[in-house]
Amino acid sequence: MRTQPYSTTGSQPATTRRLAPALHLLHGLWVASCPSCGFQLATARTQQRCERRAARRVCPVCHQDGA
Ligand SMILES: [Zn+2]
Repeated sequence: MRTQPYSTTGSQPATTRRLAPALHLLHGLWVASCPSCGFQLATARTQQRCERRAARRVCPVCHQDGA
């Protein structure tokens, strides 16, 4: 049995259906892009930072109808 890699206890609402951004390491820079359309959401030097920045962003392409 394996333990969960991360626990989301109280950090995020369970109803969030947004997919996690796709992370790529390009030339030493992490790039987070929309998993659906590939739009670049954020870049950062570290994976963690990139993930966090991207998590706060909403893809303007997939959400152009507004909410
Ligand atoms: Zn998108």
